[in-house]
Formats: sequence, C-alpha cells, structure tokens
Amino acid sequence: MSNQGLLGNAGRLMAVQQVGHRSPRQFRDKKPGRIADYFGINTFGHKQMKERLPENVYEKLRNTISRGERIDVSIAKEVAQAVKEWAVENGATHFCHWFQPQTGLTAEKHDAFLTLNEEGRPVEKLSASQLIQSEPDASSFPSGGMRSTFEARGYTAWDPSSPMFLMEGPNGSTLCIPSVFISYTGHALDQKTPLLRSMEALNQQALAVLKLFGNTSAHRVVPTVGVEQEYFLIDKAYYLLRPDLQFAGRTLLGARPPKGQELEDHYFGSIESRVLAFMQECEYELFKLGVPVKTRHNEVAPGQFECAPIFEEANVAADHNQMMMETFRRVAGLHNFALLLHEKPFAGVNGSGKHNNWSMQDSDGNNLLEPGQTPQENLQFLVILCAVLKAVHKRAGLLRAAIASSGNDHRLGANEAPPAIISVFLGKQLSDILDSIESGQIKGETTEQKLINLRIAKLPEIAQDYTDRNRTSPFAFTGNKFEFRAVGSSSSISWPMSILNGAVAEALEDVQVKITQRMTAGAELQRASMDTIRESITETKSIRFEGNNYGDEWRIEAERRGLPNLRKTPESLDWLVRPESSEFFKKLGILDPEENEARYHVRLERYLKDIEIEVEVLNDLAYTSVLPAAYKQQLMLADALKTYLEAAHSTGLPTHSVSLQSRVLEEITSLISSLLERLAQMDKHMNEAAHIESLHAKAHFYAYQVMAGCDGVREACDKIEEIVDDQFWPLPKYHEMLF
Ligand code: ADP
Ligand code: MG
Repeated sequence: MSNQGLLGNAGRLMAVQQVGHRSPRQFRDKKPGRIADYFGINTFGHKQMKERLPENVYEKLRNTISRGERIDVSIAKEVAQAVKEWAVENGATHFCHWFQPQTGLTAEKHDAFLTLNEEGRPVEKLSASQLIQSEPDASSFPSGGMRSTFEARGYTAWDPSSPMFLMEGPNGSTLCIPSVFISYTGHALDQKTPLLRSMEALNQQALAVLKLFGNTSAHRVVPTVGVEQEYFLIDKAYYLLRPDLQFAGRTLLGARPPKGQELEDHYFGSIESRVLAFMQECEYELFKLGVPVKTRHNEVAPGQFECAPIFEEANVAADHNQMMMETFRRVAGLHNFALLLHEKPFAGVNGSGKHNNWSMQDSDGNNLLEPGQTPQENLQFLVILCAVLKAVHKRAGLLRAAIASSGNDHRLGANEAPPAIISVFLGKQLSDILDSIESGQIKGETTEQKLINLRIAKLPEIAQDYTDRNRTSPFAFTGNKFEFRAVGSSSSISWPMSILNGAVAEALEDVQVKITQRMTAGAELQRASMDTIRESITETKSIRFEGNNYGDEWRIEAERRGLPNLRKTPESLDWLVRPESSEFFKKLGILDPEENEARYHVRLERYLKDIEIEVEVLNDLAYTSVLPAAYKQQLMLADALKTYLEAAHSTGLPTHSVSLQSRVLEEITSLISSLLERLAQMDKHMNEAAHIESLHAKAHFYAYQVMAGCDGVREACDKIEEIVDDQFWPLPKYHEMLF
C-alpha cells in the first residue's frame, strides 16, 4: 500500500512504522534441499535433452551448441516436440520467444501451446517453425529508424546456444526460447545479435593465433564472462513515496545524511536477515534456472549489495545476467523491497557497477589468459595479452561509448567509480615483465633457457598474485582474466562485450599477421613473437596506468598521453559513428553501417528521454513537495515572529533578540525565491532545447546546460530539506531509506 497522499510527513511516518514491523520472508513451503538436486531443473539443458531426444538428434543439437554452428533445421521438429512435452509436464501452458530489444530489458510475447485439430479438439503443439521463428508485434521497440512504418515488423529466431527455460508464474509456467530479434531486412534490432557476431569474429581470430602456436586440437574459442552485479535495496514503503526513484530510478533530490558511508562498516559486514532472506530466495529461483550464482555480500554503500555468478560463455552469461536482474526485481517485491539498479541512486553515496570479468577459453577448456607452465605457453600468453592491450588502446573511445548512459554519467569519474578515461591496469609483476621486454632485457633471439632465466617461466605466479589490486582502474588484469569495471549496473553486458570481443578479435588478427610476416621473412616463431610483443608493448604504452585513477593528476596525465576523456554520454556516443568505428564494426561483421547508425540513434534517444523524465519529475517534486513544505515553514516562522512582536508591543517585552529569528525567516524566504528562479531557468532551458533540431546538439545541451540547471534546483531543494520542520517534509529522507 502506498502512503502517498497523506498530509505532511504522515506518509513518511507510516512508512517508517511499516518498515519497523517487517520480518524476513521465508519460503519454507518450497523446501529447497540440496542445490545439486534442483540446479537447472527449469532449463532444457543437456541432461533433459539427452533424456528426451533421440541420440542422433541430441548429438546434432549438442554440436550446434558447442561448435556455435547453425541449427540443422531437420532436427527442429523433434526438438520442438521434446521441449514441448518437457515444458507441459512441468506445468507450462505457453511458450514465448525471449529476446533483448535495445531497451536494456527483455521482451516476450506468449502463445499458448493450445491448437485445435481438424476435429476441433484441443491439442498441445509446438511446431518446428514455432520453435525456430516468431513474429512479435514489434513496432514499439526501439529500432533507431531501422524499421520504417511500412514494414514495422521484425522477427525473432531461436538461439540454440543459450538453453531454453521455464519461467514460473504464480499460476503456471511459460517456456522461454532465447532468441535474436531481426528486422525483415535482416538487420539486428537487439543486443544478442551483435554479441553472437562478435563472438564468431573472436573465435576465428583466436583460433588462428592458437594454430600459429601449434594447437591443433582446439576447434573453438569463446569469450567467458563472469558478471559481478551491484545493486541497492530499499524498503518498498519508502520507494512508493519517492516518484523520482519510481520514474527516474534515482533520487533527484535529498539532503545527505549525517552518517554517510564514512564509517565503512557495511562492506562485507554481516548481511541483515531480511536481505539475506531476499538473497536466498533469489538464489533458489536462479539455481532452478541454471544460473550459477556463487557469491553474495554487502557492498561499500549502506543498502548496497553484490552478487556474482560463476563465469560462463559470454552469450549465456548475458542471458543469465538479464534473468538475474529480472529475478531480483520480482523477488524484491515479495520481500517488500524495491530493487535499484540505477548507477547512482543516491548522491554522495557509492554508485553501482557491473564488473565484467572477461577472458577467452578454448574448446579444450584452456583459459587463454592463464599464464602457462612452459615458455612456449607463456609466449602465447604474452601475445594474447598484448592483443588485449592493443584492443583497448585502439578502441578505448568505443569501449567508453559502449558503457555510456545517463545513469553511468553520474558514476564514472565520481571518485568512487572508474573514471571516464579508459586505461589498463596490469599489476606490478606483469608490468615489470613487459617493461623489461621493451627495454631489451629479454631479446627476441633469447634461447629458451634464457627465457626461463628471464622470468617468463615464472608467469604462473601472476595468477596467484592478488596483492596489488587496483580498484580504481576501469580495466584491470586480475590474474587470469580482465575485469571491465566501468560497465553500468543497469545495462545489458551484451553491447560492451560485443565491442570488447570485436576489438580483441581485430587485435588478434593484427598480431597474428605480424608474427606470420616475420616468420615468412625467416624468423623463428619465438623471435617473431617476441618482436611482435615488443612492438605492441611500445605501441600501447599510453593505455597502461598503474596509479590512482581517481586522482586529478591522472586526468592531466591522460590528456598529455592523448587518451580520450569522454566525460558524458553525448560525446561518448559520437565515437560510435566516427568513420573508423563504422569501418571497425563492418570489418568484423558485428554491425553494418546502417545498423550502427541505428544503434547510435537508439542510445541518443534513450539519453534524451532519460533527461526529459528527470527534468519533469524534478520539476514536479519541487512544486508539489518541496515548495509547499517551504511555504509552511515560512508561514510558521512568520507567524511566530508576528505573534511575538504583537505580544512584545502590548507587554513591553524586548524586541532586540528577534533579529536572529528574522534571519531564519529571511533564509527560508530567499531559498524559496532562489528555487523559484532556478525552476524558471530550467524551464527556459527546456524551451530552448525544444527548438534544437539535431538530436546530437540537443543531447550536448542537455548534458551540460540542462543537467547543470537540475543540479542548481537540487541544491536549493536539499538546503530547504535541511531546515524545514520534519513534520512538513513528505519525502523519505536519505537516512531513512539507507539505514
Ligand atoms: P575476484 O574476487 O578476483 O574478483 P572472483 O573469483 O570472485 O574473483 O571472480 C569474480 C568473477 O570473475 C566471478 O564471476 C568469476 O566467475 C569470474 N571469473 C573467474 N575466472 C574467469 C574467467 N576465466 N573468465 C571470465 N570470468 C571469470
Ligand atoms: Mg572482482
């Protein structure tokens, strides 16, 4: 129940009371038992496929999945039949193609299995074509102008590389078929398609490098991703009193609490039982869906938490991260919490990110970023490491663009999150090795024995080297993987991972070509590799930074190095449509120029919409919540003063001491007029913006003028909050929501 509409602070007080009476929600009726017994029971995974499909069909499907091949249409009928039977036996009545349009959310359109046969009798059916393809009425999904209205339809197509699953509803289940979403002209309209394409590009180039190093057994390389997901939970009673949280996902005003996170007593602290109950229920639901959630803990900020799964192939990790966010949101409601996935729900309190731990794995299970046991293996490791350095060096602007959103703008560079400048942290040991290779202490002609002497053989220690972690870096090597930390907490990982995969694929090709050229010119593999490694080290030096990324010195240093410092979303998005970026996407087969242009528009429009919503909600809050409270305060003070002066007049009480009191009245009065002025200014800005034709120019205007205006309004509101009588203040305060 919402307490909105109650007078003064009555709604707030009721919320505080409600919260005080909450207890942890238990779900004993579900009797979880051993995880291993129910993990993945709601997925049509290998176990279910094997049990239910004829052996040859299962083999074909398994190959499709493990080799990333196209589905053999001839088996679709049997797969459809089997999965339908499995789904129906497990309580499903409907199926849907589950896909990820460019809203950051997932979409689904349910169809019943029900059909009527020739005699008009009901039968449950899922045909091969229904499994493979579907046509959602998709005209309202963002396409960035890719679908003109005359052909406003797109279709979804089954992606067999991610397992189908049952989504349980209160009154029955739905079979979800992970799918791509494509326009009738064959253009990608979703997040998954470019991701799958980038994985293919990476697969080809990584295999070529492995082959160069004599690996003949691996037939596929996939990017692996483990996503550390940060989020906030606040009580639903407070959430329902905060239109800003409901509509914008973040508080647009709110005075800082006296006790912030200074005490640092939340991080890894014991998890409060209500929150623990929430986490346990989420985990239970996610385990059934085969999502291997592994760690849970409190985060730095009060009310902030983190969950991380065991890493998986990028595409599955992306789907699982979406399922995780959806499950969190749903289960939070059951526990009377609201889930906040916004990157910066509270000013002055740490924001939330989504650390994308990323590596590559071959089909024999080897991690390509794991330093090996032999010099030969380590040479390959260094080549691959250098390719990643080259990738980030060359595509830093694009990686920044990949994580750009209105929400992440508040987080990046806010001295608690990675800055907007992309750089790579390697750690002391690895940095030293690269430096000594570069300075010539380890030469190309070095014999294998010398390589061993010169520490390359000691590389395995790096994997255990967890001591010198740099938490301020946006892109850090952590032993046997990279951690892309600048990704926003609310966004899909698909887009940033597509760009990373693509950038690394491009760089792998480059190093592979260079090594091959050197070998053609007569060099041995070892020497050709070392020379290429050395060249790459020199070339990518500017992207490496081991120091404090939060410091002002780094900003200055980065500028000197010529690294892009893309502070906000509009200038970041500009990078997407630079000619060399379009060329990059096209060359790697990730997006054609038209698709890329469309993506740019979708993201730009989303940015504008976010800001417009924020302005509207802020305006609304200022006029309907903040100003009325301020007027009451003003009236109370004025009344008190007036009454006293009248009394003094008739009784002869001294009047010299009222000057302090009148100053307080003056203060609230001047805050009121300052707020009114700022609101008028904001209004003027929005009117001006309405006349800006180009979305590009408008976005820049929003990012700087309009956002600065909002900050001004907020500042006045927060000062008012600090001085008005608590009984007049209707909005839950920071300390109430967070502690
Ligand atoms: P840390 O504490 O160093 O961040 P964790 O072991 O907690 O390390 O891992 C964080 C995330 O990184 C987890 O989701 C984990 O599964 C993931 N991860 C570990 N190894 C890899 C890998 N090779 N590729 C991708 N992600 C990985
Ligand atoms: Mg980590």
